[in-house]
Amino acid sequence: MKVIIATKNEGKVREFRKLLTPYGFEAVSMAEAGVDPEIIEDGETFEENAHIKAKAVRAASGMPVIADDSGLEVEFLGGAPGIYSARYAGENATDKERIEKLLEEMQGVDTPLRNARFVCAIYFILDDKREYCVTGTLDGYIGDEPVGEGGFGYDPIFMLEDGRSMAELDEEEKNEISHRANAMKKLAETLKNNRE
Ligand code: IMP
Repeated sequence: MKVIIATKNEGKVREFRKLLTPYGFEAVSMAEAGVDPEIIEDGETFEENAHIKAKAVRAASGMPVIADDSGLEVEFLGGAPGIYSARYAGENATDKERIEKLLEEMQGVDTPLRNARFVCAIYFILDDKREYCVTGTLDGYIGDEPVGEGGFGYDPIFMLEDGRSMAELDEEEKNEISHRANAMKKLAETLKNNRE
């Protein structure tokens, strides 16, 4: 069964393709499906934003859709950047600028207070009657400087319990432990029950 991944981020489509294939679902991008609806992400939670995206792409395509919304929550900053993770340093800022801004905010903050987590809400609309929402997280802490070349976004400053940054993991390893993978694992039962 084909499922549209409601994102323009090709990296995410690739990640979902790998996660979905074992369950018998074929992930297709919005471009492949020929849909490009206007989406205004004005929800107040990751779950609401995932729902908004999924609904828009479902309305435009009539196909099964998976949408996710994700971001980084830093405890010391009261959960910021949170749902504003992508826009944290302005609309057109780069990953590097977002990282610099966060490191500035965290300057002088001791390690025990640098706890953070990645969050991913996934909204899955299978048909007009079946919709599912799950949330996955990954705990870590904010490093003092960027380390590693892999991943994207805040990965170079997101430190895991073993002392490596998320950007030091290869794609396969990240796909086993990430917030997105953890959300997908929660969705697994549903996927198994609905596979073709
Ligand atoms: P969205 O889910 O596409 O709205 O993106 C949210 C933002 O959260 C991204 O632009 C990244 O800055 C950040 N983010 C989400 N997932 C990850 C990840 O796996 N690694 C690093 N940053 C992430």
